[in-house]
Amino acid sequence: MFKFPNNKKFAFTIVDDTDDAYLENIKPIYDLLAENQIKVTKTVWVYPVRDEQASKGDSLSRAKYLEFIQDIQKNGFEISLHNVGSGSFVRSEIIDGLNVFESKLASMPRVHINHSYNPDNIYCGSKRFSFPFNYIVQKMYSNYSNFSGEIVESEHFWGDLHKKHIDFSRNYEVDDINTSKKNPYMPYRDKQYDEYANYWFSSTFASNQWMFKKQVNKMSIDRLENEGGVCILYTHLGYYMVDGVIDPHFKKMIEYLGSKNSGWYVPVSTVLDFLNQNKKSNNISEYIPTYFKKWIEFRSLWTRIKYRYFVKLDDFHFKKSNSYDKRTDSINQ
Ligand SMILES: [Zn+2]
Repeated sequence: MFKFPNNKKFAFTIVDDTDDAYLENIKPIYDLLAENQIKVTKTVWVYPVRDEQASKGDSLSRAKYLEFIQDIQKNGFEISLHNVGSGSFVRSEIIDGLNVFESKLASMPRVHINHSYNPDNIYCGSKRFSFPFNYIVQKMYSNYSNFSGEIVESEHFWGDLHKKHIDFSRNYEVDDINTSKKNPYMPYRDKQYDEYANYWFSSTFASNQWMFKKQVNKMSIDRLENEGGVCILYTHLGYYMVDGVIDPHFKKMIEYLGSKNSGWYVPVSTVLDFLNQNKKSNNISEYIPTYFKKWIEFRSLWTRIKYRYFVKLDDFHFKKSNSYDKRTDSINQ
């Protein structure tokens, strides 16, 4: 059991992938989170989307959206990076993008999350795994490759800046609200990625509101509280407004969490700083042990397979649904 600050009993936070987030569909969600004192981490793009057939969403280049991002940051939300933009960016653009981030938001991001098929992704695709899982991923997702953010010879290289500025990166996903129970080593270092990355964390797999409902309900929240655990949920809040209405289950759960005084609701970097401190005082290995890494790699891959082929709730299925078609975005405004 953790000794959380202010006698809190459990922690819950979200890392929000910025895909599909526009001012119009995301501000109501952050208003709801703020009303319930749940301060999460939002990722952003600095530049407008370049691969419009694949991705969409606002970037810091839209003045009103930037203003909103600055507002929530002042209110205690963390702003982090989802690459400098969606699509192909070269080193000089990435350097400029990081500087724009710093000038608009007062400091460099501490968290970066790889976006989809961006060539500047760091240790992405099958490189997320070690043998033999890397070969399985290569076979299963043959076009999920060609990432070179950590390769010095690449025009997309920015691994040195990633190492310098980014404290926390995300890798393995777990199929449980209690992320820390499934990965007690986070944040951890990993020798495979040490050259251009620092600490890594896991997240609870919940890419959309269907998965959110599967992972987060009154029973699972109560269990998280009883287990004294930490939930780091990864999702796309940009999907959660459909026909101008916030997903009702999400709204209910945020209000349920908000009603609990025992919950510690701070951004992911604050949670990970706390866990790191806790690891040090308990002499827990800074590096992820090899046997555990294999185990969590297996579990992570299995989670992906489970929600793709057996319990069909992942984004592959969600994006073919009515909910996704009817989601609110700025095009409708
Ligand atoms: Zn993304």
